[in-house]
Amino acid sequence: MEKQIPILDLVRQYTWMKDAIDRSIAECLKHQTWILGPEVGLLEKKLSTFLDSPYCIGCSSGTEALVLALRAIAIEDLDQEFFEVTDEVVTTPLTFTATGDSILRAGATPVFVDIDPRTQNINLEQVERYLELSSNVRAVMPVHLYGHPVDAGTLLRMKEKYGFRIIEDVAQAFGASSNGKMCGTYADFGAFSFFPSKNLGGFGDGGLVTSNDESLAELCRILTKHGGKDKYNVDHIGYNARIDTLQAAVLLAKLEYITDLNNRRRKIAAAYTSAFKTLAGITVPDHMTPGHVFHQYTVRIHGGERNDFMNFLKDRGIGSMIYYPVPLPRMNVFEGRCKEPFGTLEASNACSEVLSLPIEPLLTDEEIARVIEVVKEYFF
Ligand SMILES: *Cc1c(COP(=O)(O)O)cnc(C)c1O
Repeated sequence: MEKQIPILDLVRQYTWMKDAIDRSIAECLKHQTWILGPEVGLLEKKLSTFLDSPYCIGCSSGTEALVLALRAIAIEDLDQEFFEVTDEVVTTPLTFTATGDSILRAGATPVFVDIDPRTQNINLEQVERYLELSSNVRAVMPVHLYGHPVDAGTLLRMKEKYGFRIIEDVAQAFGASSNGKMCGTYADFGAFSFFPSKNLGGFGDGGLVTSNDESLAELCRILTKHGGKDKYNVDHIGYNARIDTLQAAVLLAKLEYITDLNNRRRKIAAAYTSAFKTLAGITVPDHMTPGHVFHQYTVRIHGGERNDFMNFLKDRGIGSMIYYPVPLPRMNVFEGRCKEPFGTLEASNACSEVLSLPIEPLLTDEEIARVIEVVKEYFF
């Protein structure tokens, strides 16, 4: 059988960084401080510097990071533990389930605004049209999908004009940037995920909230610790949502390699795009936006050929994935719980056309050439 080229290869990455990771884990085995051990504070400090964000709070997952940020807004802005259902949070229909689900968990109502087919990200012109119509928007939650940065300048101008909180879903965009700012630091909040398959991934679940506001950041921190500074006498309805010492240790070691790995992703993406851009039947991702970190290399396959093409790749040992097959407002959980979506056509089209190709940053030149050869063979 031919050699497999998976979409991602965590064993290969571990082998490459093994010594640093093993050393970091060995320290934890010595000190045995598994909850909020020294690695947690050190990781938060290093991320603060790397991202240029004044407040970084480690937490148990990217999903919890979103919920913590939303809850902090309800507490700070409305003086309530949760939102009311009349409070709206605007986000994209083309994202992972957790983005929309976090809004429901915080008690608010999601408003899904259609995507821009060029970037696959939320269409900010449409967001502005919605903001003109509704005065109930408490927050806008852009998702930097596939590592593609949503434009910071446009968002900040709209925030100034309409007044809302920004929570960036940075789960797929660690290290991405826009207008000279790291994604996750545009304004009020960034919510990062360290799920193993993310650009910076741990050995289990983990996440991070970034904030530029001291009091919002403090609220997030106490919410991760049962809702109070003193856990035997708490002020808020909190969670047990701390990041594990062990995950922090793994991430501290991996952080040293992230810039190199993100640059390798960019190189692979550039090689694919220069080979595929002239092929009919496939649309390459947007490369016009600087700061993209290519968490996924996602093309669009036209003419209803996606399944056929996926099978063609599979038969030749090449992995591919669909992110995402269903727009959020079509999921059962959102039925009767979200506003009438503000445009659905582009997101629906994307769901039936998107396909992500192997973007393992440690792919060899031969493997990259092999992917290119097979894709060309299909579309030529
Ligand atoms: C992965 C992901 C999340 C959730 O992160 P977890 O750490 O798995 O909870 C949220 N939003 C997006 C866009 C994601 O890709």
